[in-house]
Amino acid sequence: MKKLFSALACASLCINLPAQDGGNQKIDFEKYDPVSTLVVPEHKPLASKFPFIDVHNHQWDMPTKNLSDLIRDMDALNMKVMVNLSGRSGEDIKKSVKNINGSFPKRFIVFANVEFKGVGTAGWTENAVRQLAEDVKNGANGLKVFKNLGFNVMDNNGKRVTVDDARLDAIWKKCGELKIPALIHTADPKSFWDTLDEHNERWLEIVTHPNRKRGPENPVPFELLIEEQHRMFRNNPNTTFIAAHFGWYPNDLARLGRLLDSLPNVVVEFGAVIAELGRQPIMASQFFTKYQDRILFGKDSWVPDEYKTYFRVLETSDEYFPYHKKYHAFWRMYGLGLNDEILKKVYYKNALRIIPNIDKTQFPQ
Ligand SMILES: [Zn+2]
Repeated sequence: MKKLFSALACASLCINLPAQDGGNQKIDFEKYDPVSTLVVPEHKPLASKFPFIDVHNHQWDMPTKNLSDLIRDMDALNMKVMVNLSGRSGEDIKKSVKNINGSFPKRFIVFANVEFKGVGTAGWTENAVRQLAEDVKNGANGLKVFKNLGFNVMDNNGKRVTVDDARLDAIWKKCGELKIPALIHTADPKSFWDTLDEHNERWLEIVTHPNRKRGPENPVPFELLIEEQHRMFRNNPNTTFIAAHFGWYPNDLARLGRLLDSLPNVVVEFGAVIAELGRQPIMASQFFTKYQDRILFGKDSWVPDEYKTYFRVLETSDEYFPYHKKYHAFWRMYGLGLNDEILKKVYYKNALRIIPNIDKTQFPQ
């Protein structure tokens, strides 16, 4: 009987079940998913403790989308305002704003995007600045810059446009004048540049998403991109920047802290990096205490169920609970147990201060 079971399981799972003494078991890393035997208090918030503003969301079809479905999911999570970073520009902004104003005017904010094609051609910078001003006049409340800047935006001579390219400075300056923030995503996790072997923490992500692999020539080293971004922040002290994904230093909070200390015009959001915070609850809660005015709530990919991990990490003091994507984190989470004052700042107060035209009456004092 035992033999038959073993043969069947092997055929369906392609793993070798143990010999009688458990001696020669082999399981793929991707498949190994042990159920924790740890018994500790558990709290599983389905919604956030306070209403929140998600400053890092992407809705690509906002000009035409029926927003009622989004609102239903947002309400279930206690998300009061969604910031759609994928507003594009021109007619798309106008249509998105019209759609929002005709249905749920208080619940959505749209950021504009710059079209980087043609950098270096005559009048490109002036046009980009003019278009941004027009988009803001038409209802955009921020600028989002995608990671293609730095990776693969080329100028009219086929040269990589650096994040701190002087031809873009007028755009950042305009954001300052218009009093809108610029949320910018530069580079990717450092592990994407590291050797792909058994020591790489993102091995599974790269193996399952091979086009995410980077290298010193693909297109340039991680450190160079980050330096370009920081130089651009320094060159534009009158513009508020939201560094996406904790500036890709969620795994080195002391370093991120030094950056925030040196650049008062920069704040951060933790889209897609909550697993980094959930593995260092002591360091992370110290960081949230010290930089409580500089952190915004962001998530990035719109999978409503996954927000619950964010709430649990931020709000509870739970221990050793699962994360939702093994290729981000094969480790388990610990709650930071943040107090109400800090939670309110991270959930909405900081965003209300930085992003214009959000109706404050929707939030507690
Ligand atoms: Zn994003």
